[in-house]
Amino acid sequence: MSIEILPARLANQIAAGEVVERPASVVKELVENSIDAGATKIHIDIERGGHKLIRIRDNGKGIAKDELTLALSRHATSKLKSLDDLECISSLGFRGEALASISSVSRLTLSSKPAIQETAWQAFAEGRDMAVQVQPTAHPDGTTIEVKDLFFNTPARRKFLRTEKTEFSHIDELLKRIALSRFDIALTLTHNKKVVRQYRARESTHGVKRVAQVAGKEFEQFAAFIESGTDGLKLYGWVLPIGNTNSIQYSYVNGRMMRDKLVLHAIRQAFEEAAGEQALPGFVVYVEIDPRQVDVNVHPAKHEVRFHQARLVHDFIVQAIKQVVLPADLITPIEGEL
Ligand code: ADP
Ligand code: MG
Repeated sequence: MSIEILPARLANQIAAGEVVERPASVVKELVENSIDAGATKIHIDIERGGHKLIRIRDNGKGIAKDELTLALSRHATSKLKSLDDLECISSLGFRGEALASISSVSRLTLSSKPAIQETAWQAFAEGRDMAVQVQPTAHPDGTTIEVKDLFFNTPARRKFLRTEKTEFSHIDELLKRIALSRFDIALTLTHNKKVVRQYRARESTHGVKRVAQVAGKEFEQFAAFIESGTDGLKLYGWVLPIGNTNSIQYSYVNGRMMRDKLVLHAIRQAFEEAAGEQALPGFVVYVEIDPRQVDVNVHPAKHEVRFHQARLVHDFIVQAIKQVVLPADLITPIEGEL
């Protein structure tokens, strides 16, 4: 075979393999874009578990008409200009790949109107070269991205889609994590045109109402609020101080939801040291660290980070959590299911 440059769609489909695993990954990328755009209200409409339709509507800053084509192109981002920026990134996105990737494996349309622009425009990419068409449309200030027929052109991926119910439960779970990452954003989730979740905007990040809504009343009632550290390295959140229930386990680093191995390991270790082997921790924990002390560009879907001072961060988390976890023998089990 001779060496040839891949057509745009194929190159994007290959890249999509890394970030677009299932409908929930599409929702994650699109909602993160809305958050980065400063949206205070985000609507997520799902049909048939996301197989048929994923629609994200926001009231963020929008995309100017002459940037719509770029927004759909690979390696095009407004969030990063230099390697220096990458070293202290504050936005959730920065790879400039999500829209191009998703658009290569679905029928995607992007409609947007920045407040200063009089009319709204819609864009979509067609064919193997993903040539972008732009046409006028009706849309309020903000952006809507509609993703239809996910994986219609990648049968190998489509085969891995689970039932409507399973895929929707992944989306619902993801949205819970997002809901606890930004208390100030209102989120509405519909499935097959019925409202399934409605998270109202809350003023304070320490407000417990949303925690109760997402994690359950019992968690909110029995969890201890902790706050430890100073600017530069801080931890706060809620921990169920009784090591005997399997409950919600969410962690965030600089506002980004994470399944970071180091953070999770530190939390588990704190529970084990304080409450013993059997401890099954419940927690919603936020780590805030100087962005220059952490590298977020280690995982395409950004599930993990790399801390420059890994040991120090690990031990700090262990100490912070241990303070509120009670030894197992001091505990009377709570009645009912948490
Ligand atoms: P990234 O988020 O890594 O920059 P994306 O492919 O997800 O890459 O998005 C490309 C660009 O499109 C973003 O940098 C942003 O400028 C713009 N964009 C995407 N979604 C939105 C949105 N909901 N509101 C405003 N701008 C958006
Ligand atoms: Mg993005």
